[in-house]
Amino acid sequence: MKKFGIIGPGAVGSAIAFALIESGQHVTLFGKENSTVTFQDYNEKKHHEIPVHALQDTHSNVDILFIAVKTTQLDAIMPYVSNIIHADSVIILTQNGYGQLEKLNHPHKYQAVVYISGQKDGSLITHYRDWTLKLPINDHTLSLQQMTQNSLLNIECLEDYAQQVWYKLIVNLGINTVTALTRQPAKVLQSEKIKSLCFNLLIEGKLIAQAEGVSFDNNLEESIMRIYEGYPDEMGTSMYYDMINHRPLETQYIQGYMYHLSKKHQLNTPYLDSTYALLNTFD
Ligand code: NAP
Repeated sequence: MKKFGIIGPGAVGSAIAFALIESGQHVTLFGKENSTVTFQDYNEKKHHEIPVHALQDTHSNVDILFIAVKTTQLDAIMPYVSNIIHADSVIILTQNGYGQLEKLNHPHKYQAVVYISGQKDGSLITHYRDWTLKLPINDHTLSLQQMTQNSLLNIECLEDYAQQVWYKLIVNLGINTVTALTRQPAKVLQSEKIKSLCFNLLIEGKLIAQAEGVSFDNNLEESIMRIYEGYPDEMGTSMYYDMINHRPLETQYIQGYMYHLSKKHQLNTPYLDSTYALLNTFD
């Protein structure tokens, strides 16, 4: 039986751990220290205790490692990753943003586009919806898909992976930027000026994707705005919650990733440039 490891006992990592444990897999969840997290599905209310093992003290060999710390926490776990993998291990990075894989010095590494929604409050993890990780298609990811087919986890191995990455980046660019900067949840889009800012960010995101060789339908911005309009008024985004709780923002791998590509391609992206500059002041 393959051994699974997950670093980061938070919203995403605990959900992956729970899904794999429930399906009978051999799973170790790694955190900062030995502890326990309580996992609950929002609709179910039943509590599940999951043991957490201190990453720093562990020397073991997992075959598949999910890394589910925030992008701002990635550097801190780097010295310990090599202690828990072997040469043939497969690493799946489950983070928002893009460009972080370069930090991992390992041949078999893939970044997932994450559709798992949850929240961590102390040691209580509430899972709201979705169990999907979108990955590029190759022998490693297809094998992972097969291994996890009897679990809640939905591994999608996709030919159009690059498009999926950019779609999520653009969705995050719009709503994360405006909710974080205004410190207001989704209802902030009721302001026509903020709505216009958000729309323009989506246009610029699409422009950068295009320069990177990824094209979308003409109505991408309108369709994303319609998705935002369906959000409950009080719904926040990860960057909004990080902002109001004075936690580090994941700016560098979302807005920053796109900003640097915009400069590389010499694009005109004034909305991104100015909001990125503002977000940087909070780092
Ligand atoms: P989270 O709930 O804050 O979980 C991160 C976990 O990593 C926390 O348990 C944290 O512990 C732990 N951690 C931090 N530093 C560590 C270290 N040095 N060693 C071991 N563990 C460490 O974050 P998340 O919401 O799961 O987000 C993970 C990634 O998924 C982010 O990139 C996020 O943008 C993305 N994402 C999240 C969602 C969502 O709904 N939550 C949806 C899509 C994508 P402490 O709390 O003690 O620091």
